[in-house]
Amino acid sequence: MRSIFLFLIVIVVFLLVMAVIRGRQQKKFEQQLAQKKTQKNAQGNEKMVCCEICQTYLPESQALCVEDKCFCSKKHLQQFVDNE
Ligand SMILES: [Zn+2]
Repeated sequence: MRSIFLFLIVIVVFLLVMAVIRGRQQKKFEQQLAQKKTQKNAQGNEKMVCCEICQTYLPESQALCVEDKCFCSKKHLQQFVDNE
């Protein structure tokens, strides 16, 4: 009986540790995203970028950019990746 109790405690502790680690990673990621956005907004005149697939122009903060290529949507990013 005691070993089952110990086993349960180990599982609960493990799950808690995993939850904390995940929460931290998420927070870090969100902070980085927020920082990037504020940096871009602080620049004032926002750079316009062109979607590699449909040639639509949109503000860089709304575009999905990978290296020097930008896309208007996830769909077009995926389309580009598939064509590579
Ligand atoms: Zn597009």
